[in-house]
This record gives sequence, structure tokens and C-alpha cells, in this order.
Amino acid sequence: MAQFVKTDSGKRLTRLITNGYMDNIVKAQQGAFVVWIAIIVPAEIFAGFDNVLYCVPESHSALCAGKGVGVSLCEKAENLGYSMDLCSYARIDMGCHFNQGADSPAGGLPKPDLLVSNNNNCTLLAKWFDVYHREWDIPHFILDIPFCYESQKQRDMEYIVSQFQDLIQTVEKLSGQKFNPEKMAQAWENSVEANKHWRRFLAAAKNKPSGITAFDSFVQMAPTLTMRGTPELAEHYRFLADETEARVEQGIVPAPNEKYRLLWDNIAPWHQLRKMSSRLGALDANIISASYTYCLGSREGSLDLLDLESLSPLEGMARLQNFSICPHGLQLRGRAMKQAIEEMDIDGVVFASNRSCKVYSLMQMDQQRYVQEELGVPTVMIDVDHADERKYSEETAFVRMEALLESIDEARR
Ligand code: SF4
Repeated sequence: MAQFVKTDSGKRLTRLITNGYMDNIVKAQQGAFVVWIAIIVPAEIFAGFDNVLYCVPESHSALCAGKGVGVSLCEKAENLGYSMDLCSYARIDMGCHFNQGADSPAGGLPKPDLLVSNNNNCTLLAKWFDVYHREWDIPHFILDIPFCYESQKQRDMEYIVSQFQDLIQTVEKLSGQKFNPEKMAQAWENSVEANKHWRRFLAAAKNKPSGITAFDSFVQMAPTLTMRGTPELAEHYRFLADETEARVEQGIVPAPNEKYRLLWDNIAPWHQLRKMSSRLGALDANIISASYTYCLGSREGSLDLLDLESLSPLEGMARLQNFSICPHGLQLRGRAMKQAIEEMDIDGVVFASNRSCKVYSLMQMDQQRYVQEELGVPTVMIDVDHADERKYSEETAFVRMEALLESIDEARR
């Protein structure tokens, strides 16, 4: 049965994240220019300024959900008239920040001077930031990112780079600070370095039994979002990968009697991490990997890392704008999943249909059919909401996941 043991990198992560949120509050009080960004906005740009800090509302909402206050914050937004059908990240964020940081385990985020979103994941995100733009009268910069059905085209990259240059000028104008490209380049190097170690960490899933659970990787994604471009992030991921490799070497793995190697498709169920991992562990099942954790720099339709070293920082950041699953068409998603199934010897796939994230969930039925019928791998679809626990039923989900394990047994006979 799986043991939920806090590793040294787990303890280190808690310190890093807590300090990061506290530092932001202190620096904002001391006069830093504050930018709120969507997760994919290149944070390294802000490292090019002396006193600009960035906060990531989506990541803060995930933290709130993980700490058990997702539902109360969603309800606060609903009481203000926001529909229960909106993404729970947005509801948590508005419930928190229209109530002066209420319930946030991190004390909320310092109020922004600039909002920067993009449209490569979903249009809801730009609308969500627009609410603050209207309510607080704060400028909102929207990056327009082309949708992709194949590798990014050169002209798309150039189009994105030109918008980054506009963004730099906008921050210079609004903050009164001068941009230093060398500082941004250093931050970019730190991110590229961090990414290499992240891949080493994820590769531990290929071990039999797996050296990690997807739940470990979900939790460890947080600093990529909130500390991108920092040497501390690169150092943390080096520590994480080294520790994980050493544990595998010593035979210390989360599910020593691993009988079922599963793949998760969609955003992490933040409110269920410990419960779901322990309950699956009791069945000797391990969700060893997830499409979600591979979306931190993969080539379109693949798990392979993009070759970022050969690109200039702005080009590299533009190249990464296509890195997540949501803007990918069905063929790209299918190709990446096929590779994951083959390389990690996956026995079954759990498609988590997410009530909040429609863009991630929309193609899952077609993808499920492809995996089941074309690749011959058993699958199941469960209903989840990544941050609103009211839209998840543990018993219903487990009845289905146990049926998946039975199908795997059946296929092995
Ligand atoms: S709907 Fe999905 S992509 Fe959009 S903000 Fe919510 S979680 Fe992110």
C-alpha cells in the first residue's frame, strides 16, 4: 500500500511557497510594482525590472482548494452573482479578493498595478481579469496567442515576440522603471535549467515500480508558476530530481506493490490529492503520471522537451506559449498520450472530466475512444472539478476507478 511520506523536497517546497507569498506581500507594501499574470505569461520578463513582482491568481486558487477553503470562497463569489458554472479558479479568486483576501491560507495577493492575461488557454481567463480591470480600474494587457494544430510557425513566434516587446514598454511606462535585458536573460537561463531537472524528476515514473505518483508532481508544479526565472526554482528542482533518483536507487518508492500503472488526464483534483492517492494505494494502484504535468515545456504532441537553448530568451518564451494541453487539437493530444502510454507502460487511463475547465475536457470523449479502441488500453471517465469539491463524488469516482482496475485484470487474463 502507498505511504504518504513527506520527503525533504516536500518540506523544502512548503517553505519556498510560504516564503514566496509572504515576500510578495512585504515587497508590495514597500512599493514594488505588482503584476497579476495568467500562468503562461512569461514571468521572466518581470525579472528584467528592479522592483516588479508578479502573482499568479490561478496558482493561488489551487492553493486555496488544496487547503480546504475552495468551496467557501466559491460561495462568496456566487453570493456576488457569479455563476456556479464559471471556472472554480476564477470564483475562488474573486471570492477571496472582493473580500480583502478572506480565507486565503497565504493572506491573499497584493493588489495589482497591472493585469496580464492571454487567450491561449481559455477566453474565460481574459474575462476574469477584465472583472478586476473594470472594478478596480487597473490596466489589462492581453496577449493574443494563436491556437495550434501543429508545431508553432515562425510567423506565430514573431507575432508573439512583438507582443512581449509591447508588454515590456507598457511595464516601463506604468512602473517608471527601466528594463534590463541581461537580467531577463539570466532569469530565462534559470528557467531552462529548472526545466531540465523537472524532466529528470518526471522520468522517475518510468521506473517499475514508479518512483513517483502524479500527486507528487502536481504539488511540485507550484513553484514553476510562482517562482519562474529564479535561481531558487532551478536549485529546488535539482534537489527534487536528485532526491527522487536517490530514493529510486534505494528502492524507496510510493507504491512498492504496484499492480496498476495509471495515467491521469486533466488538471489535478486539488481537494483530493491525499485522499485519492491513499485510496488508490490501498488497491495497489498508482497514478504515476498526468498529461497536466507534462505541459511545462513539451513539444506539441509529445512528451519531449523543447530545445530552448538555441533560442533567444524572448523567442524561447514565445515558443513556450504553445506548451500546454488546452490549445492543442485532438491529434496532438492523442499523439502525446500514445507516447506516454508506451514509454511509461501505462495499464489504464483515468479521464477526469472537469466541470470547470471545459477547454481541457471538451475532447476527452473522442480521446477516450481513441485510447480504448485504437490503442487497446482500458480507460474510465470520472467527473471532477479541480477546485470546487461540491462537484465531485468520491464514491462515484471510486466505483468507476475500481471498474477500471477490473477491466485491466480482465485484459491481462
Ligand atoms: S477554465 Fe481551465 S484554462 Fe481557463 S482559467 Fe479555468 S482552469 Fe484555467
